[in-house]
Amino acid sequence: MIYLNDIKILFDYLKSNNQMVGLKKEGVRYFYRSLDSFDEWAASPLLGNFSPKDHFFPHDELMFYFKAQKTIELKAEVQSSVLWAARPCDIQGILELERMFNQTEYKDPYFMQRFEKTLIVGMACTEPWPGCFCTSVGGSPYKKDGADIFIYPLENRYLIEVVSEKGEEALKGLSAENASDAESLISKGRADAEDKIKPYKFEGIENKLKSMVDSGFWDSIHNPCIGCGTCAFVCPSCHCFDISDEAKGGRGLRSRQWDSCLFADYTLETSGHNPRPTGAQRWRQRLNHKFNYFVEVFGIYQCLGCGRCARACPVNINIAEMATKAMEWAEPSE
Ligand code: SF4
Ligand code: SF4
Repeated sequence: MIYLNDIKILFDYLKSNNQMVGLKKEGVRYFYRSLDSFDEWAASPLLGNFSPKDHFFPHDELMFYFKAQKTIELKAEVQSSVLWAARPCDIQGILELERMFNQTEYKDPYFMQRFEKTLIVGMACTEPWPGCFCTSVGGSPYKKDGADIFIYPLENRYLIEVVSEKGEEALKGLSAENASDAESLISKGRADAEDKIKPYKFEGIENKLKSMVDSGFWDSIHNPCIGCGTCAFVCPSCHCFDISDEAKGGRGLRSRQWDSCLFADYTLETSGHNPRPTGAQRWRQRLNHKFNYFVEVFGIYQCLGCGRCARACPVNINIAEMATKAMEWAEPSE
């Protein structure tokens, strides 16, 4: 571990060989974008309106061209990049995308080449947003897992921890003061940050949801939802996409776009049949995917507690409150 008085030193050091991607203000919102200089970085708030998912898995992505039934692969090289100062919850979101897109039987080359070429620099979240609940879903504002390098802001300087070999390689040659007395500073910072986060009780929710397949609960909660899909688009771990072909005269292109299980036509089949025609069924799917199915397959929640979906939802639906209601739900007696 090392100390740096000015975090710009680290930014400029990494920028010399990489595209820097960090939080940038555009209009009134904060997005992860390419940063041409340190001054473009929006150091606060650390939580953007959108997560860094778009850097690894773009909202609208060209996959390949085709001509007379032959595929023409894209030749462009993916540039090596640094994801700068990402929040721990967003890093967990990237790790969850990697679990989805890097399976033994199926690997997504589009996601994987960006993932492999990106150095992840995480930053401890000293001021959690009031809607955050990472500590209730296995996270922490100081969780460094998944980062290559992790930054802890201290009162007058920064503590930098090298977490992975990739991070060690990237920092070779950076001279800085060695930090041997840092553990207590990290523990104190972690405790202070975690104290600011509202706790929820989700233990056992996966079993409760399993027992609620035919519950009246879903009819009781879905009505305010207008199916706009905003919650999925801002979510760091939602990964559904749709594929489109555009063709004319034997030539064309294939691309993919983010999708949402709360869109009414998400499961609409070509025949016109829709196996999930109601909002109640769609909400059952969403809550189960986040708190049950992902636990069953990967042993972790798919929700990271970033709170973005509640902040962005036009009708104020809050997934943590929704999950709490599910935990407390008792079927009405006949
Ligand atoms: S479901 Fe909501 S709170 Fe959970 S990770 Fe996605 S955006 Fe964040
Ligand atoms: S953002 Fe809110 S209204 Fe829109 S789909 Fe999600 S829960 Fe429904």
